[in-house]
Amino acid sequence: MLNIVEKFITISGEAPIIGSPVYLIRFSGCNLDCKYCDTKYHDEVNFSLTDDELMDDINNVIKSNPFLKVLLTGGEPFSEERQDKILNIIKKLKKVNFYIETNGSIKIKNFELRNIFYIIDWKAPSSNNEIFFIDNLKFMRKTNDCIKFVVAEEDLCWLLEKVNFLTNNFNEIPLFVSAQYGKINLENLSNFIIKNKLPLKLSIQLHKLIWPNRDRGV
Ligand code: SF4
Repeated sequence: MLNIVEKFITISGEAPIIGSPVYLIRFSGCNLDCKYCDTKYHDEVNFSLTDDELMDDINNVIKSNPFLKVLLTGGEPFSEERQDKILNIIKKLKKVNFYIETNGSIKIKNFELRNIFYIIDWKAPSSNNEIFFIDNLKFMRKTNDCIKFVVAEEDLCWLLEKVNFLTNNFNEIPLFVSAQYGKINLENLSNFIIKNKLPLKLSIQLHKLIWPNRDRGV
């Protein structure tokens, strides 16, 4: 079964599809325990669906609104036990675009599908989970995939090192950075990007601006 915390239509709050209407599906459970995690409820199971039931659910939502993208998040959507099941659904729903937010610690098995877009977190030291499956980098595509950093002030030297590594070795992968809430000033982060001439796109958590008093269901 595929265990899900919540599923709803919203506006994506984060890069690279910030501002886009999405059908967000939050899978239950995560192999990490980040210090700043804002979905501490990710272990809840509110829907338990078979692969076919989830595929029908997505199909029905997309039929009623063909412009929606599907955002699979968590928790960790691509945990080893469910990655194959999700990939099978994506293979069958060829006309639907799937965005997968994954935490970077997991080996991704399939970079070939054109309707799949990976948003891979590279966890900074302040997360207390600096685990990154580096071989994924070899397969990432400039058209479909990106790396996302979420940083605090204390991560800036680390960030500079990682961005330099990526630009020297994998310079086509799009890179995004966002600020950990309350842990770095956006002006400081912007000045850091400009001063160091980094190819980073700054992202904000748009959903927190739109719905400042809601911490779930958005
Ligand atoms: S990887 Fe994401 S869901 Fe998992 S603990 Fe870290 S922030 Fe939370």
